[in-house]
Amino acid sequence: MNVRVRFAPSPTGFLHIGGARTALFNWLYARHTGGTFVLRIEDTDAARNTQEATDVILHGLRWLGLDWDEGPASNNPAGPSKGDYGPYFQSQRGEMYKKRVQELKDKGMAYESEGAVKFKMDRNPIVIPDLVVGDVRRELTDREQVDPDFVIIRSDGQPVFHFVNVVDDLDMRITHVIRGEDHLTNTAKHIALFRAFGVEPPKYAHIPLILNPDGSKMSKRDTGASLQSYMDDGSAPEAVVNYLCLLGWSPKENREKLPLEEIVKLFDLPQVLRHNARFDLDKMKWLDGEYLREMNDDRFRELGAQALRRAGFALDKYPADYVKAALTTCKGKIKRFGELGAYAGFYFSDEVKIDPALAEKEFTDEAKARVKKLRAAFEQLPQFVAAELEKALKATAAELGIKAGPLVHPTRLACTGAAAGPSLYHLLEILGRDKVLQRLDIH
Ligand code: GLU
Repeated sequence: MNVRVRFAPSPTGFLHIGGARTALFNWLYARHTGGTFVLRIEDTDAARNTQEATDVILHGLRWLGLDWDEGPASNNPAGPSKGDYGPYFQSQRGEMYKKRVQELKDKGMAYESEGAVKFKMDRNPIVIPDLVVGDVRRELTDREQVDPDFVIIRSDGQPVFHFVNVVDDLDMRITHVIRGEDHLTNTAKHIALFRAFGVEPPKYAHIPLILNPDGSKMSKRDTGASLQSYMDDGSAPEAVVNYLCLLGWSPKENREKLPLEEIVKLFDLPQVLRHNARFDLDKMKWLDGEYLREMNDDRFRELGAQALRRAGFALDKYPADYVKAALTTCKGKIKRFGELGAYAGFYFSDEVKIDPALAEKEFTDEAKARVKKLRAAFEQLPQFVAAELEKALKATAAELGIKAGPLVHPTRLACTGAAAGPSLYHLLEILGRDKVLQRLDIH
């Protein structure tokens, strides 16, 4: 069977990590089976349906690297290419829904009722064969015993979620519906609709919810609930992807850090855990640190540059070689890209901000006089390179009859604004003679 799965978010202006994880599990299953991953925006609720809300979803998926495989062709004159497809939008599929309502009416499975259209619901218990949860048997609720039929087209003409969701899964030939467990309560309705159309429903896999560390339901405002917060904190997308995998899925042997290619190989629905997942910020931070440490230099610089731009640094004002060299000095020194603004912002600022308390402690008159001597030595250097800078600093210290430390500290503070940071001689070389001399001119 050719597996076809989909992520079907409603555009709410917010991508919850539960949603991101649903997208990821669908994507992983498609990649694992060599199937197709479809993105469908469930935007029939016109009031919430804005371009910005859709962009939040697209941006989040792209950031995570979850590429979708098909959709209506883009407006690209060269024709659609992979990654260039628009997603499907329910708001553009009104004609399809009309046809499908007519089909149900023709079969006697739907009827007009007070201006709306209602579906004739199956009166028998429905068993949902779920690949994660096992068989779930749904009986009609007390209220449904009285009238189990439900509205599929509202009196204002708007089709209802259950209906469009099923029609699309049917038309898009979805083979596996992988979605949050909160939808389990809707699934009997969906199965009945599929059967009314005369087709077998897809296979279902309802994945457990993500809870707060204290076991409560995660709401919008809880720490880590929004994918955006990981971008803002400067997490690496690969670390977030790895982390999301662990929320509800577990490879054997309790392994936690796994490269994506390996996850794709191992991922399968029977291994999705049945119990709810607990959000664990410490684990996320740990993974962030691990990924950063092992990341190759190019990727580190790419993500580092993004983080600095997001933090408001105008990187484009600086030559590419300068940016590259500056970021290279940060490799292995930070745990999260969110730290980079504070750690390396001095490379990309015209003026260094120095904490007044630190300045008072470090810039004593004596220290100023020493730095002045060092500045004069730096000025004379024929080559402004790390090895020469180090020699000059050590020679100046020897002349002054002091150790290197009392010269290193005020120099670092004056040039970077901080007491710690990248290797001093390297950062001085990168900043260059003009900036260093200007910053060492302490008043
Ligand atoms: N639009 C629904 C949601 O965002 C999709 C449910 C489904 O995946 O079937 O929850």
